Amino acid sequence: KFIIDIQNVYKFFHNVVALKNVSLQIKPKEKVVIIGPSGSGKSTLLRTINRLEKIDKGKIIVDGFDITDPKCDINKIRMEVGMVFQNFNLFPHKTVLQNITMAPIKLKKIPLKEANNIAFSLLKKVGIEDKAHVYPAQLSGGQQQRVAIARALAMKPKVMLFDEPTSALDPEMIGEVLEVMINLAHEGMTMVVVTHEMGFAREVADRVVFMDEGEILEVGSPEHFFMNP
Ligand code: ADP
Ligand code: ADP
Repeated sequence: KFIIDIQNVYKFFHNVVALKNVSLQIKPKEKVVIIGPSGSGKSTLLRTINRLEKIDKGKIIVDGFDITDPKCDINKIRMEVGMVFQNFNLFPHKTVLQNITMAPIKLKKIPLKEANNIAFSLLKKVGIEDKAHVYPAQLSGGQQQRVAIARALAMKPKVMLFDEPTSALDPEMIGEVLEVMINLAHEGMTMVVVTHEMGFAREVADRVVFMDEGEILEVGSPEHFFMNP
């Protein structure tokens, strides 16, 4: 029984093949780290799992729903699959609290007060309860990324996708974001993470997927990839 079932997926950008016959099955609670050179399709693959990108061929089933079916409700996908981006993607004209409560209020019709309570408990979890009423620009990169994680978690997703979540951060802020991700992993969240942080992969990944030129070339344990022979 898989929570994510990616079957023979192709994605083209004009004449560029971004994904070439990609298949990957992920079990509930599994942590998968995707590695590979720049331009190998890692980001595109993640984006197909919550339909930020449509695929050209193949099928993707998330929690039993065929999300590549044009009739599939996109809001339902966005509720089940949380995503964290390299550049945080927070709404600049909304406070931290509003960033977190917006989607639960709009998409899940959660009352404001309850949404605020959820947001505060998530801010506590990511260690920045004192920042609820400031704007993203008033935060460090590490704090902004922790808000982005809290915002994704506010939808109570079944799966969390991370696209190079620490790549835009100053080195001293990487640890605080990885710590939140490691805690999430230990809580049993299903996670698919594109990252260059090999320490994170070693500590957290059940499987590491190596991509090149749009293809999955190798899948193995972190030991397989990162231990010296
Ligand atoms: P990675 O995340 O591994 O760096 P990407 O998934 O971003 O790779 O890109 C895979 C390939 O698809 C690259 O050749 C990239 O230039 C191309 N690509 C990605 N997004 C687009 C887009 N929106 N339009 C055109 N080409 C794209
Ligand atoms: P990433 O760090 O995720 O690889 P990029 O800097 O490659 O991001 O791309 C930023 C945005 O531009 C993404 O939304 C990606 O889909 C898009 N993009 C990437 N490559 C191309 C391309 N060759 N042409 C048009 N858009 C692209």
